[in-house]
Amino acid sequence: MSVKQIQEREAALEKSGVETPLYAPRQKIYPQSVKGRLRTIKWVLLFLTLGVYYFLPFVRWDRGLDAPSQAVLVDLEHRRFYFFFIEIWPQEFYYLTGLLIIAALTLFLMNAVAGRLWCGYLCPQTVWTDLFLWVERLTEGDRRERMQNANKPWDLESFARAILKHWAWLMIAWWTGGAWVLYFTDAPTLVYELVTYNAPFTAYLWIGILTITTYFFAGHMREQVCTYMCPWPRIQAALTDEWALNVTYRYDRGEPRGSVKKAAALKSAGKPAGDCVDCNQCFNVCPTGVDIRDGLQIDCIQCGLCIDACDNIMTKIGRPTGLIGYDTDINVKLRQEGKKSLPPSIIRPRTILYAGLIAVIGVTMLYALVTRSSIALSILHDRNPLFVKLSDGSIRNAYTLRVANKYGGAREFSIKLERFDAAHIDVVGAERDADGWPRLKVGPDQTLETRILVSISPDAHPPRSQDIRFVLRDINGGETAIVKDHFISSDEHN
Ligand code: SF4
Ligand code: SF4
Repeated sequence: MSVKQIQEREAALEKSGVETPLYAPRQKIYPQSVKGRLRTIKWVLLFLTLGVYYFLPFVRWDRGLDAPSQAVLVDLEHRRFYFFFIEIWPQEFYYLTGLLIIAALTLFLMNAVAGRLWCGYLCPQTVWTDLFLWVERLTEGDRRERMQNANKPWDLESFARAILKHWAWLMIAWWTGGAWVLYFTDAPTLVYELVTYNAPFTAYLWIGILTITTYFFAGHMREQVCTYMCPWPRIQAALTDEWALNVTYRYDRGEPRGSVKKAAALKSAGKPAGDCVDCNQCFNVCPTGVDIRDGLQIDCIQCGLCIDACDNIMTKIGRPTGLIGYDTDINVKLRQEGKKSLPPSIIRPRTILYAGLIAVIGVTMLYALVTRSSIALSILHDRNPLFVKLSDGSIRNAYTLRVANKYGGAREFSIKLERFDAAHIDVVGAERDADGWPRLKVGPDQTLETRILVSISPDAHPPRSQDIRFVLRDINGGETAIVKDHFISSDEHN
């Protein structure tokens, strides 16, 4: 509901003596279709984003025989995330944190440049609502027809159209939920299991949940999700500044509004007349029911469709386009003061800061990714007992060693101790290499957990606690990984 409509409603209630209720019932919105530059951009983005979402799970990526061949996969069972050539292990989930920080900063940058760019063009709620609206127009007609039907009693045709619409909505919603679960297991296998009713129950459950939420959010709740449920409009309003571009109605050019005839009459009488012909097309196409001529409102998702609608009208009546367009608050203020507008300034301290942070975090993550080791090594000293004295007087410490081979092929490693020549190292059940160090075999993309025993003769007179370094070396590739721990030879409390 626009500010003007709310004011009219409140005035009418006041006049009638009825107290203004705190709850305003939702006014159903019937957005009209529109053609134009921004509408085309929105279609392209809609096909791109939905195309990626629906079909990405079917893209294959060869990682060798023992690894999954799905390009993007969240493998919960083996605790791995695959993204084309990148494989993230649980201990590397800081990459995900980095990606989330970059995503948040990108949102801030978009906001600093052009307000709610995300809301208007890329947010899933906007994209799916757009798709559902397209289905609605296809089945029940454009704004005028739908409004007329809403005031008519149901007949066979309107009933059939409604059935068709809801069926199409449910199909889209179902496929939305279906595509989501495909990211968590091999997509072709799961599709086969789903159609033969052999898929796990959780797959059906998640498809059901996402089908229902998509159907209600995009089909029924639409703009209410953006206005009442989403926190971003409030956060966005706190983050923006007067230099951000927003969809703006040019009051100075549009007012006083009136029909072409009225404007001509005013002009011939020497009075000022604005360019707005009060055709209401900007309001009719708005998916959130906003009249942009009432100023910037929290309900406006900045989709730009009113720009296309107004430009079409302006072109039709031979007036310059741009009566509604992207503009900054600073220009609105300058024009109110009768001053000239300033060109938009995208390069500002806050945009430089956001872009700089994105670049620094992005480059750091990329560097960490390309230089990361394909071995993960960790060690845990036995706590109880810290050491044991053997019958021959030697002292032994025990450790649990964990080796993760992040490479797509099996590997053989040698494990040795550095700077602790007097010690003897044993790995339960392991063979030894030519130099006498134990050898460990780890399968492709697998983790090996093994017990390590380090002992030292009493003649070596070890200190009570000594730093030691375990060096794991790939026998063929030469890659090494090192972990540090302690060798304890007497009770620390004595
Ligand atoms: S007012 Fe214009 S930009 Fe805002 S939501 Fe409506 S059509 Fe989109
Ligand atoms: S579409 Fe343009 S001309 Fe028509 S009412 Fe809106 S601002 Fe005025």
